[in-house]
Amino acid sequence: MTTSLTLNNGVELPAIGLGVFQTPPEETVAAVAAALRTGYRHIDTAAAYGNEREVGQGIRESGVARSEIFIETKIWISDYGYDETLHAFDKSAGKLGVEQIDLLILHQALPSAFARTVGAYKALEKLLADGKVRAIGVSNFMPEHLTQLLEQTEVVPSVNQIELHPYFQQKELQALHAEHGILTQAWSPIGGITSYGQSARRSFDEPVILTIGEKYGRSAAQVMLRWHIQNGIQVIPKSTKPERIAENFDVFDFELTADEVAQIDALDTGVRGGPEPDSITLENYGMPIPEA
Ligand code: NDP
Repeated sequence: MTTSLTLNNGVELPAIGLGVFQTPPEETVAAVAAALRTGYRHIDTAAAYGNEREVGQGIRESGVARSEIFIETKIWISDYGYDETLHAFDKSAGKLGVEQIDLLILHQALPSAFARTVGAYKALEKLLADGKVRAIGVSNFMPEHLTQLLEQTEVVPSVNQIELHPYFQQKELQALHAEHGILTQAWSPIGGITSYGQSARRSFDEPVILTIGEKYGRSAAQVMLRWHIQNGIQVIPKSTKPERIAENFDVFDFELTADEVAQIDALDTGVRGGPEPDSITLENYGMPIPEA
């Protein structure tokens, strides 16, 4: 079973990373260090999460060499525009305490100010050309955003990080990614958003998933992560609890049947848990990102 995926520029990315959205800064160092001790080699953070400094500290405290770890972070919309995004790299790298970021992505499209989004992406292309980042990508880009971006820029994004769990699967968008060689990264891969969001039902209570889990002696989270991996999707489950961090990584020694994968594929409701990407504006979601 492969434990890494290859991006469209040849760079390798582990199949599972640790997400740290909503991980309070005071718990981030321990969570990151616990994950690295467990065997994780990829951490997904964002300027907007307010914990990049602690991610860097957790990496240093883990004792694992920087060269073995894949660090991904995201530029917030308030820092879009060419010069602003070049400076946003310095802010993130400074807080993380690194010279180079492995994967730097735009957190959202700004549909009402798309020229700024394009400017931000062109800055990512410059950082890539200068060797300051090893790969670049986007997040929460819908088909029309991706199409516009591809028309106006040179480098095809390596990833699009999107909401993706059994209840919301975005299959058309996934097909577009496949067409262009863009890796699909799943945020809320175990359906965290169905617990902390507005959803009517929680993925962790889904009978189809629990029944499959019983067969293998595995938790709902493990079954969902296995489902993504078998579909070729990269995952970044979040937990602050060492036992869950370990549980979420322990998915490489069992395999779902094609029928079980199909049963989970059939759970798609088409209902998004997170904000509608077209509703993201600087007025509603802008916030200053502090200097390093
Ligand atoms: P997840 O699907 O990773 O679920 C996380 C939630 O599930 C937390 O409440 C966690 O609680 C709980 N949990 C974790 N492991 C288990 C387990 N084994 N059994 C039961 N419960 C568990 O959701 P997230 O929304 O956090 O998404 C993951 C990552 O994706 C984020 O951390 C972030 O890196 C990224 N993300 C990106 C977004 C974007 O716009 N690009 C948006 C949202 C997320 P606890 O910590 O208490 O264990």
